[in-house]
Amino acid sequence: MAYTTNTQPALRSLVHELPAYAAGRRATDATIAALASNESHYDPLPSVLDVVDTAARRMNRYPDSAALALRTGIAAALGVVPEEVVVGPGSLGVLQQIIAAVCDPGDEIVFAWRSFEAYPVLASLAAARSVMVPLAADESHDLEAMAAAVTERTKVILVCTPNNPTGATVKHGRMSEFLDSVPAHVLVVIDEAYVEFVAEKEALDALALFRAHPNVCVLRTFSKAHGLAGLRVGFAVAHTELADGLRRVGLPFAVTALAQEAALASLQATRELHERVALVVAERDRVADALRRAGWAVIAGQANFVWLRADDTLRELIVDHLERNDILVRGYRGDGVRISLADGPTNDHVIAALGDRSSFEAAR
Ligand SMILES: *Cc1c(COP(=O)(O)O)cnc(C)c1O
Repeated sequence: MAYTTNTQPALRSLVHELPAYAAGRRATDATIAALASNESHYDPLPSVLDVVDTAARRMNRYPDSAALALRTGIAAALGVVPEEVVVGPGSLGVLQQIIAAVCDPGDEIVFAWRSFEAYPVLASLAAARSVMVPLAADESHDLEAMAAAVTERTKVILVCTPNNPTGATVKHGRMSEFLDSVPAHVLVVIDEAYVEFVAEKEALDALALFRAHPNVCVLRTFSKAHGLAGLRVGFAVAHTELADGLRRVGLPFAVTALAQEAALASLQATRELHERVALVVAERDRVADALRRAGWAVIAGQANFVWLRADDTLRELIVDHLERNDILVRGYRGDGVRISLADGPTNDHVIAALGDRSSFEAAR
C-alpha cells in the first residue's frame, strides 16, 4: 500500500477554506455594555433557574435523547404534533442537521445577503455552495431575485425574518407569493429567531405557511426572547419525513437535560416573557425615534436590535466611538452596525454616545 508523504495528519482542504464565524465580542466586566450578540439583557427567570438547579443534580445521567417532554410542550404551544418538532443544540445546530440531511456536495443553498453570518459557514461545512442574493435597497429580502437564483442544484432556500442583522421582515403576502413560485422539491427554511419581537401589521404567519406547503420548515430558538442562549436549544417545525431525517443526522444527546427542562419551563412562563418582550419592543421604538431625530436613517426593524447602515469609514468611526464609551456592538464590513437593545439606561447611553450623525460625518 502506498502512503502519502504527509508528515502529519492533514486537514481536508474544505476545512482550510471555511469562513470563520465571527462571534460578537463578549464583555470582560460588568461596566461594559455587551450589545454585540442580540442576547436577552435580562437575568434568567426564577422559575427557569429552579428547574435548571434541580436538573443539575442529575447530570450524571444522559438526557432524554428524544426530548419527548420538550417536543410535546412545543407542539402543544404551536398547534402541531410532536413528530413535527425537532430539537437541537441551538437552532444553528438544527440548521446544520437540515443541511446535512438534504444537501450533497456541490448543491446550492440560496439566501439573502447580508444575513446571518452562520449561513455561509454551515453551507461550506457541507461542501454546499452559498448563493447569496443581495438585499433590496430598503433592506428587505429580494424574493424575486431569490426565486430567480434557483437552479437544478438548489436544495434549500433560507429566509431570515426578521433578518439578522438588519431587522427587516418579510410580510405574509409576499412570502406566500414567493412560495408559490418556488419548485416543490426545494426546501424553504424560515428562520424566525426573533419572531417574538415582531409587532407589525401583515406579519408573517410561518406556521400557517408550514401547514399549507409541504416544502416549508420553520426554525425557532430559545436563545433570544427566552434568554437561554448559554444553554443551547432551538428547534425546527418540519413535516414528518424531513423531521425524521433530521433526527437521524443529529448527534445523540446533543441537547442537555438542563437545556430541555429550562426550555420547557420557559414555554410555560408566557406572561413573564410577554412582559419582557413588550419592554424590548417599546425600547426599540424609542431608540429608533431618538436616533432618527439625531439624523440617523433607522428602518422600523422588528427584532431586539437596531441597524445602522454605514460604509466602512463610518462603520469604523461608530464602532470605535462606542467602544471608547464602553459599549460593544457589532460592525459588518461593507454594510453597517448592529446594536442589540438592552434596558432603558443602557439604551440611553447608546443614544447619547451616538449624539448626532453630523459629528460623525465631520470626523471622516
Ligand atoms: C441568534 C440566531 C439564531 C439562533 O442561534 P441559536 O443557535 O439558536 O443560539 C438563528 N438564526 C438567526 C438569524 C439568529 O440571529
